[in-house]
Amino acid sequence: MKSIDIVIPSFNEEGNIKSLYDRVLKLNLKKYKLRLLYVDDGSRDNTLFEIKKLSKNKKGIKVSYISFSRNFGHQVALKAGLDHSNADAVISMDADLQHPPELIPALIQKWEEGAEIVYTIRKDNENVSWFKRNTASMFYNILNYLSGLEISHGAADFRLLDKKVIFALRLFNEKNLFIRGLVTAIGFKKESVEYIPELRVWGVSKYSIKRMFLFALDGITSFSVKPLHFATYFGMVLSFFSGVYTIYAIVIYFSSDSVVSGWASVLTSVLFIGGMQLIILGIIGEYLGKLFIQSKGRPNYLISEKDL
Ligand code: UDP
Ligand code: MG
Repeated sequence: MKSIDIVIPSFNEEGNIKSLYDRVLKLNLKKYKLRLLYVDDGSRDNTLFEIKKLSKNKKGIKVSYISFSRNFGHQVALKAGLDHSNADAVISMDADLQHPPELIPALIQKWEEGAEIVYTIRKDNENVSWFKRNTASMFYNILNYLSGLEISHGAADFRLLDKKVIFALRLFNEKNLFIRGLVTAIGFKKESVEYIPELRVWGVSKYSIKRMFLFALDGITSFSVKPLHFATYFGMVLSFFSGVYTIYAIVIYFSSDSVVSGWASVLTSVLFIGGMQLIILGIIGEYLGKLFIQSKGRPNYLISEKDL
């Protein structure tokens, strides 16, 4: 019998743990050895308690868990789930039921037909906020342009990965994980399934605007060094214009009597160049920071409890 693990990163999701379990149970996937692997990402509510309650249950689907010592983030929780699975396939999905479990049979079907990665594409509806839809598609446009990847706009971490793919992913030792990008970049036979997202059953979204921005920045700087090239181009273009401006200034100096003017232009150019320099330093800093974090070689996550 083939085994399938369902990995569910959960951060303060106490009200969703049982609902998700029930919905998966209803699917009646008797043909497979199924296991729910909840990754408690340092929740501060009763998430772990709810998971433990399920794991004690001898009947129904087997429930395992990993509990982090603190909050490490969604992507890291996902990685931990993949690291701790020996199943023939892993399905990853959110705990809040925005990813409908009813799609699982379709994912498995494609896998049985030979796909090694079955990813899902979110068909946006009013269950996803206008803001999220638009910022997400803007982000993927920029990321795809910069990295040469082709991540679809409705990409989410709702997918099935074959064992082979999980072994491949384990070879990547990156500290700043952007699994969506990695999965797109590693090849393998891919198939997709569309789904309509549901409303979060309980609780609130953990992705604030700030976190979304950081996530986007992480994605871009993990997959592309083009921003560094931009810095160089900007520098070159600016030096060219300042050269032209210098020539212009010299010409004016010799050909005109009223030389004192020019406050505004000096000030704007100084501010502009100052701003550009800061941005460029920031870009370099982003990469240097990544290098620094990577070079320390710290573990991605720390586990305080587990039951596998
Ligand atoms: N999540 C997590 N750690 C975090 C933030 C989120 O494990 O630091 C989980 C969360 O519990 C959920 C999934 O990641 O299962 C997606 O998060 P959320 O639903 O808040 O994001 P949204 O759907 O609003 O993008
Ligand atoms: Mg959600």
